[in-house]
Amino acid sequence: MLRRSIITAVFLAALAGCASLPPTENPVAKLPASARTLDMFKPGNEQCYDRDVMGETFVVDAHNHFRPFGGAAKSMTEINQYLLDTGVLFVNVFGIGQSLPVSSTCEYYLDCLGTPALPSMKNDFVNAMNYLDFDPQGTEMTLSMTFPDLAHPENVVEQIRIMDREYPNMFKWMGEVNLVKQALFGNHHAATPIEAIAKWAPFMALLRTRNIPISIHADLGADDEPNKYAPLMDEVLHLYPNNKIVWVHMGLSKELSHANPDKHITKMQAALNGSPNLMLDITWRVINDNYFTAPDMRAKYLAFLERNSTRILPGTDFVASHKKSYAVYREEVLANSDILKDLSNTAFRNIALGQNYFGITGMKYTAPQICE
Ligand SMILES: [Zn+2]
Repeated sequence: MLRRSIITAVFLAALAGCASLPPTENPVAKLPASARTLDMFKPGNEQCYDRDVMGETFVVDAHNHFRPFGGAAKSMTEINQYLLDTGVLFVNVFGIGQSLPVSSTCEYYLDCLGTPALPSMKNDFVNAMNYLDFDPQGTEMTLSMTFPDLAHPENVVEQIRIMDREYPNMFKWMGEVNLVKQALFGNHHAATPIEAIAKWAPFMALLRTRNIPISIHADLGADDEPNKYAPLMDEVLHLYPNNKIVWVHMGLSKELSHANPDKHITKMQAALNGSPNLMLDITWRVINDNYFTAPDMRAKYLAFLERNSTRILPGTDFVASHKKSYAVYREEVLANSDILKDLSNTAFRNIALGQNYFGITGMKYTAPQICE
């Protein structure tokens, strides 16, 4: 790995001098991403993937919020350039499950406790319109429906029908939707009542027939009670074993930043073993910083990722507020990819090079083989 790091550093140093960014931006080196193109992922491609030269960051961002909580968003064109510059070729275009009211001047829900932050169809419409208007090139974007309110699921099928009418066949993912998100408790969100989960049946059936995965934010608990909310996701997995469900952040959060790694891994392993259609998303740098950095914990999670390398999706959990720059996205890609460089070639191909993502989406792409 050391050799790789040196080569990457040399490569980045070389690129730093020639990155062409708008003059208002601080020059930030691009990742060694220019070697990556969609063509490399087309069936029949015979070029192997060289981890030393082409980089060890992920090509899939399965968790990217193109809409902010409130305030102005980044343009889709600008985000697409961030993706290209970091070598992220495949992305899930999430709205946001906690949009602030248009009357609010607030831009981040934690800055305005008491203001409701609730799911809405607005941001999904905007993403679809932007996608049509700007026709992003060089990447593959998967539009996602972020509007469902899991505690009040009665209208979700009707809302999907509206999306069908306005944007037929455009939405191929659902989420991130919030089953329970403690960070939102100050903004009129509460844990979804367990009885509401059975009422998802009509829309979950529709997702199954369309082969649409659903990314669910489901906090396991908090540091003083690590499994407080675990029964909620257990109920989801019990009731909907045939849906493609993605458990985001492996149930971890800022509130649960000191879980016992052995217990957490045991819980995740049991969930994966019991639910063959479940996948885990390892996005959000809170996970990297608290669980993947200390060497003893990193070793445990690496073994877990290797064991389950067909069940893991990578990404950033970026939120595209106008206040963020390319440097922020780049840093998110680097932090959230850090653990991937220590994976075996097989696991790297499955997770970082998108083989798992192509499998769950049914996209007609295939990850290149790794050069020996
Ligand atoms: Zn998210």
